[in-house]
Amino acid sequence: LRDAAEPVDETELAIEGALRPASLAEFVGQHKVRGQMQLLLDAARIQSRPADHILLSGPPGLGKTTLAMIVAHESNRPLRMSSGPAIQHAGDLAALLSSLTPGEVLFIDEVHRMARSAEEMLYLAMEDFRIDIMVGKGAGATSIPLDLAPFTLVGATTRSGLLPNPLRDRFGFTAHLEYYEPAELERVLERSAAMLGVTLPPQARAEIARRSRGTPRIANRLLRRVRDYIIVYGDPSTGSGAGATEAIVDAALDLYDVDRIGLDRLDRAVLDAVVRRFRGGPVGLSTLAVTVGEEAETIESVVEPYLVRIGFLGRTPRGRVATPEAYEHLGVPHGDSALR
Ligand code: ADP
Repeated sequence: LRDAAEPVDETELAIEGALRPASLAEFVGQHKVRGQMQLLLDAARIQSRPADHILLSGPPGLGKTTLAMIVAHESNRPLRMSSGPAIQHAGDLAALLSSLTPGEVLFIDEVHRMARSAEEMLYLAMEDFRIDIMVGKGAGATSIPLDLAPFTLVGATTRSGLLPNPLRDRFGFTAHLEYYEPAELERVLERSAAMLGVTLPPQARAEIARRSRGTPRIANRLLRRVRDYIIVYGDPSTGSGAGATEAIVDAALDLYDVDRIGLDRLDRAVLDAVVRRFRGGPVGLSTLAVTVGEEAETIESVVEPYLVRIGFLGRTPRGRVATPEAYEHLGVPHGDSALR
């Protein structure tokens, strides 16, 4: 799923990896989830057993992968990473599960996108650390039980509602990650700027935080764009490349189509469609997706949650509706016809 309107290349991924906090103590925000996870990991450590399976849900870039890495790191166990789309047959999952070493942490990103047959195998594996492997076809088919090493599954999904109930029920701990407050993003930025060697005055930091859509990954990306801008154009206030002023932040982010409140091209396209094309709504998800030329799942799991959270979009049984705040942001006057 897309999470920012920018392409991701190898270097960007490497930098993203380097900026990941390695412990719960370094992980910014998500206070409640952090406390709950700490308890879960401590209990497992005291009893020298693998921690319960963990389900993390929330929009992209809020720290699900990072938390999975932290689980492995804090419990001092190896981490295996996979993703739902990579598990298209039960056999893919059988190969993965049977190669796990005792206590290993298995991270499956986009766990809702696994094949059905694999999902069913996973139920048994999570519950009893056992799978049944089908051999042969038709009347001669038999199933061979195979014991697995105990493991901790960390599943990530953009929306836990996309998971079938039997799968969701097998996670001992479920956490929903929320968008971050600007003050929390400022802390993420302060840490990242220090690691990247970028001098970031408080106002510039606040400006990037405001425009990061409540998302640490976006904050880190925007910071890198600002850094690029300084490398190329220098800092006009000092005539050198020493720091990032607010003007630079503005210039760099405008160049990347991030608006004053952090909405990107797709966010604005969705708002624009609801407000202008459908006169404020209600409009159904699939119609909206076709109008902006994007997958319904992306609109629903990535774009909408933030627009709803900032009060620009409402979900009603009849479809999505734009609020007066959305009209105001787009600079469209809202008469009676637009609001119902
Ligand atoms: P997700 O798996 O939810 O898409 P990631 O775990 O890959 O998100 O996080 C994306 C980036 O944001 C990582 O580079 C990480 O450094 C940063 N990040 C996410 N959450 C936090 C946090 N709570 N504190 C500091 N950095 C974070």
